[in-house]
Amino acid sequence: MVFRPAATVTRVNPLRSLILAAAGNATVKKLVATAPVSRDAVRRFVAGETTEDAVRATRELVGAGLWVSLDHLGEDTTQQSHAEAVVQAYLELLDRLHAEGLAERAEVSVKLSAVGQALDESLALHNASRICAAAQRCGTTVTLDMEDHTTTDSTLRVLHELRRAWPLVGAVLQSYLRRTLADCRALASEESRIRLCKGAYAEPADVAYEDPHEVDLNYVRCANVLLAGEGYPMFATHDPRLIDILLERASWYDRKQGSYEYQMLYGIRPDEQRRLARLGETVRVYVPYGTEWYGYLMRRLAERPANTTFFLRSLVSTR
Ligand SMILES: Cc1cc2nc3c(=O)[nH]c(=O)nc-3n(C[C@H](O)[C@H](O)[C@H](O)COP(=O)(O)OP(=O)(O)OC[C@H]3O[C@@H](n4cnc5c(N)ncnc54)[C@H](O)[C@@H]3O)c2cc1C
Repeated sequence: MVFRPAATVTRVNPLRSLILAAAGNATVKKLVATAPVSRDAVRRFVAGETTEDAVRATRELVGAGLWVSLDHLGEDTTQQSHAEAVVQAYLELLDRLHAEGLAERAEVSVKLSAVGQALDESLALHNASRICAAAQRCGTTVTLDMEDHTTTDSTLRVLHELRRAWPLVGAVLQSYLRRTLADCRALASEESRIRLCKGAYAEPADVAYEDPHEVDLNYVRCANVLLAGEGYPMFATHDPRLIDILLERASWYDRKQGSYEYQMLYGIRPDEQRRLARLGETVRVYVPYGTEWYGYLMRRLAERPANTTFFLRSLVSTR
């Protein structure tokens, strides 16, 4: 199948940029974090606040034939004690997954900014190493989430170090970044687990494609490189058009089911997650949990203008 240009080319949604910019404002944060409507929106996208909530959601998803990656919510840690608390949360989670017999089907996703990247890269490496060691003891692995473009080089350096001891540690590449095709080429090697997504942060035009169609085209170019390579690609998207293309591309590259996977977010297109699993595909659901849901919720709202309009209207009407 050829990836055909969409009939009309839309620029990046202005509402998306606005929401991502407003998300950093302290007044907006207070308004959203305390509004009753936020609770419903959070419940849709977040498994709950505790380790037990995360384990419960994992059990349900695994019972439905899906795989899981768990994200303890939190980012941009500026205090060492917070970074330590995040590490402890992951260690507790991994123990619980192991005790419940779920670790084989559930890995963890870690944001380096939550474990100290902004304070000191070597602290983030040290903390991530502790989580990787625990994951290995429990029979699972870790994927490093990718954050805004100012952290890409640092995150890939940490990945490189971690993979010396734990070759199965994965990383994320974002097709909206102009550099990503080259990163895919560099990382499409044996045992390399790469999650390919479009990218969720507000990025400047000199580093990122602004036109969503360019982002999609680059996604397909990157997917081709990963499928042609020796690694294990993880395709994180809800986009039906891309999913159709990926199904076709996987077979064109003679990839057996299980030598790559699809990934989607908790609460988004659950029927499609199950449909793909029924086709025999490996489908992993990214499950966020914890009390620090604000940044995550704002990125999800920014992606879907329909959700956002509904959310903003409810926010105003509850005040
Ligand atoms: C498992 C996973 C991990 C991720 N990790 C990262 C990361 O580390 N770093 C990062 O920057 N980003 C990450 N992301 C987010 C990603 O970059 C995108 O912002 C997000 O996935 C939306 O992009 P999309 O590919 O679904 O396409 P979009 O362009 O947002 O959506 C394309 C189409 O998908 C369908 N769709 C999307 N959302 C919905 C919905 N709510 N309901 C129904 N249909 C819908 C619609 O048909 C829509 O037109 C991750 C995403 C996933 C799935």
